[in-house]
Amino acid sequence: MIATEKIMIEKTKNSRLGEVDFNHLPFGSIMSDHMLVSDYIDGEWGSSSIIPFGNIAMSPTMLALHYGQIVFEGMKAFKMKDGSISIFRVEKHYDRFCKSMERMCIPAMSFDHFNEALKTLIKLDAAWVPGTEGSSLYIRPFVFASEERFGVKVAEEYKFIIFSGPVGPYYSNPLKVKVEDKYRRAARGGTGSAKCAGNYGGAFYPSSLARKEGFDQVLWTDGSADLNIEESGTMNVMFMINDVFVTPPLSDSILDGVTRDSFITIAKDMGIKIEERKIGAPELISAHEKGILQEAFGTGTAAVVAPIQVINIKGKDYTLPTVKDSNVALKIKQRLLDIRLGNAPDKNNWNTIIKP
Ligand SMILES: *Cc1c(COP(=O)(O)O)cnc(C)c1O
Repeated sequence: MIATEKIMIEKTKNSRLGEVDFNHLPFGSIMSDHMLVSDYIDGEWGSSSIIPFGNIAMSPTMLALHYGQIVFEGMKAFKMKDGSISIFRVEKHYDRFCKSMERMCIPAMSFDHFNEALKTLIKLDAAWVPGTEGSSLYIRPFVFASEERFGVKVAEEYKFIIFSGPVGPYYSNPLKVKVEDKYRRAARGGTGSAKCAGNYGGAFYPSSLARKEGFDQVLWTDGSADLNIEESGTMNVMFMINDVFVTPPLSDSILDGVTRDSFITIAKDMGIKIEERKIGAPELISAHEKGILQEAFGTGTAAVVAPIQVINIKGKDYTLPTVKDSNVALKIKQRLLDIRLGNAPDKNNWNTIIKP
């Protein structure tokens, strides 16, 4: 293993920390003081620099803007009860970042490069990790084709950036979702399992149509006659049927969610039965008719769990039992939060601890 290269740090002279109201944090508009930048040039990733958060200069010909080689991650850091900071599941996020990069033909980056960058940045901006209940520091690593020329080609230069920002608790009312039977988010052989920017752009139009019809988001399907469910908006999806959790199996059209994986691990640990298998509209309808469709919810880093109240299939609403604190999904969510905050043992070594 090569020795970790030194990270240059230029600290801000104008910290914005004092301007932030940590009790009222909007999602996605407050950025911490610093960001990390590193460039891929001449066939290798160069050393990283940490600089004050700010704009970056670019040419209108920058390849990412035209051909979409852009991959990102979304992860979180928490203030633990002893004041340390835990970053959740760094290895799993790194592995997914690499898979996404490979699918988008972006050159690989070593774990050391990613991990040292992340840890050094979060340690420097440790004061930005909120301590109020339910809040966290959202971390956004991303990489894009930075080469400047307009011919269609795989870029030879890339930029890797990590920035972060404090976010408050994510309250979502139980969702009303629609099984999308016209548009698809991802297809077999496509880029659905990569966390690439274009997947989001492509999902906006069908989602906005669903919103106009009064739904919060869509349940994406595989487009088959059975309308096998794949994901819920930008989250993975799970159902509880007759006391068993059912979630669609991973494929190249489903994103391998870190929250999904954590949920499955915790559920198994708690003795809850969980099945990774196909689940289509006919099964949801029949389970609902029998009264055994108990819970449905999305899982993702932003919300952890977003309970679903109503599922619309081919124009008909199927209403689930009212979401209560006793829902199994919410119990697992609590266990997950306890592990992150150091209130429950971290048996699987999910936390990377940073001492500020
Ligand atoms: C990021 C994402 C998820 C959730 O993944 P987490 O790692 O749990 O945040 C699910 N589906 C899609 C399409 C995503 O982009």
